[in-house]
Amino acid sequence: MPTPAPSSPARQALHKLGLTRDIDLALHLPLRYEDETRITPIASAREGASVQIEGTVTNSQVQLHPRRQLVVTLQDATGSCELRFFSFYPSHHKTMGVGMRLRARGEVRGGFWGRQMLHPVVKSANAELPAALTPVYPTVAQLPQAYLRRAIATALTRVQLPETLPRSLPPPPLAVYGQNAGQPAWSLRDALLFLHRPAPDVALATLEDHSHPAWQRLKAEELLAQQLSQFAARRERAQLAAPTLAPAAEQPLHEQLLAALPFELTGAQRRVVDEIARDLGQSRPMHRLLQGDVGSGKTVVAALAACICMDAGWQCALMAPTEILAEQHFAKLIGWLRPLLGARGQGIAWLAGGQKKRERAAMLQAIKDGTAALVVGTHAVIQEQVRFARLGLAVIDEQHRFGVAQRLALRQKNAHLREEPHMLMMSATPIPRTLAMSYYADLDVSTIDELPPGRTPIVTRVIADSRRDELIERIAAQVAAGRQVYWVCPLIEESEALDLSNATATHAELAEALAGTPVGLLHSRLPPAEKKAVMEEFKSGRMGVLVSTTVIEVGVDVPNASLMVIEHAERFGLSQLHQLRGRVGRGAAASACVLLYATGDSGRLGETARERLKAMQETNDGFEIARRDLEIRGPGEFLGARQSGDALLRFADLAGDTGLLDWAREVAPVMLEQYPELAAQHVERWLGSKSDYLKA
Ligand code: ADP
Ligand code: MG
Repeated sequence: MPTPAPSSPARQALHKLGLTRDIDLALHLPLRYEDETRITPIASAREGASVQIEGTVTNSQVQLHPRRQLVVTLQDATGSCELRFFSFYPSHHKTMGVGMRLRARGEVRGGFWGRQMLHPVVKSANAELPAALTPVYPTVAQLPQAYLRRAIATALTRVQLPETLPRSLPPPPLAVYGQNAGQPAWSLRDALLFLHRPAPDVALATLEDHSHPAWQRLKAEELLAQQLSQFAARRERAQLAAPTLAPAAEQPLHEQLLAALPFELTGAQRRVVDEIARDLGQSRPMHRLLQGDVGSGKTVVAALAACICMDAGWQCALMAPTEILAEQHFAKLIGWLRPLLGARGQGIAWLAGGQKKRERAAMLQAIKDGTAALVVGTHAVIQEQVRFARLGLAVIDEQHRFGVAQRLALRQKNAHLREEPHMLMMSATPIPRTLAMSYYADLDVSTIDELPPGRTPIVTRVIADSRRDELIERIAAQVAAGRQVYWVCPLIEESEALDLSNATATHAELAEALAGTPVGLLHSRLPPAEKKAVMEEFKSGRMGVLVSTTVIEVGVDVPNASLMVIEHAERFGLSQLHQLRGRVGRGAAASACVLLYATGDSGRLGETARERLKAMQETNDGFEIARRDLEIRGPGEFLGARQSGDALLRFADLAGDTGLLDWAREVAPVMLEQYPELAAQHVERWLGSKSDYLKA
């Protein structure tokens, strides 16, 4: 077999899939298997079964009706079967000529004219039957299955798979059953060789659901690698220096802010502020995740942390994923802090994409010379040209919207100093505690598990789009009573332009139906100044209804808004629906959320869409929503965002493989301590170049 040149499309595809080292190929495991080990007598091939048959060609001809096709009759001692090919080359006709002995594999169809197979896989009957099941690997169009199989088989003959689990540590708790009962634990080598070429008598279901001990062995290894790299990242960070940020002894800024706030902190807010303050007082960098449901009051916690940082003479950066959200933080923080900072000759800087050149230059200067104690903005904050005098604390709001690279970039901002900034990441998509502890083993987690007092629960209704007119009447009544309404337009993933045209149409529809009521329109294409003006109108209460694309998704705070309508709710993900709903129910007024759904051509909602809407109707609790989301989507997808869609765990499942996870959590720190070289080797094997990313 000729080795293809390195530049062949298949080679490139291998590279793209990250299959560069022998070990990567060895860890690329089959999706399923085909059984080519057996020949089924033609007479006993049941209709609908996928089988392999073998026989002699007794007829081979090209038929023209009802469409052009090659029809080959294969006969064995028990019966015959027709093989039909709608696309074929003249050469096929020859390789399947009368008298040849062939093997064909495919699904058997019955029918009036007897047994048939459409487009079976055909081979000469001369080859020996394989002894193991044939693997089918996940692949892409440019990478033919046969090529991938050969590449993996070759890699398996070369790959080094030394045992990395020290004998003195407890082995992973693999379930044993059936034929494997009583067998010693699988080595990684045995497990891999088995999974690539399982014996034909294996219970296929245990391979499919990954419960087979060989699979478990693999998942245990993977979980261990994940835990090791996170514990290692944490230990490495503990070696780094960060500024010790302690509040001033006299009139500390955070106490001034607390005294000026129109409300008291909740118990949960006080607790997390203490946790953060304690970390900031350490000389190693904090990496803390602050999670709390929408509306739980994370902003003020961030402001208090910023106060402690600024008190200690360091700068604080606050970054939000959208301009609207950043803008809102800016306004809020200015309101709270400008009077306090102004008295000390310090300022707050604002950085965003659409900024005027001159304004931007002034901001950059203030950040560089340190007169801007607080810097608020979008991704603009991490741009190359932004130089901080001394960044003490970086706060990232809605952290899941930022990638690893961006967190790394923030940390680089202090490259000219000996000290790293502390990092506070905020998330309104809380994940269950056990999951957080394992998924974020490299982070500390603070949770606000209490809402500010006086909130009334939001009532959620799920309504078919056919009742739209009724809904618009109700909106008219609400607006007449002085209430404000958000109307969020559907998310059309493929096209921003469609998103927009939809929002524009809805805006026109509502403006007409609600003549006399100011109806606003907000979308991401508006110039920043206009966006700001629309938000201002809505905030001031003059605008009754705000039609918007999903730009308002995160963090917008208008307490008088009490009705949220989400159009085409079936297209949104659960956590996104919950975020959107969180825009209402922020004041004392009873609030409602209406989820409008359209059923499309089928006339029915898909199952997961129905489950999502049901979950929304049944609970307001972000933690419960997160739990349901996990159930509906599975953790891979749920947590995928952390690596910008590239989930680190391929095989194991944090929610499902709890026994193995407990083992990995127990073994990882001991292994790091006692067998650092084996630990490094183990992480390298599983994560290779990806392990760097875990450090962000
Ligand atoms: P989120 O956690 O979603 O970012 P915000 O920080 O935007 O929530 O807070 C939501 C609203 O609650 C804001 O108007 C904020 O000023 C207000 N708030 C925060 N903490 C309290 C509190 N302890 N008591 C009353 N209102 C509060
Ligand atoms: Mg927020």
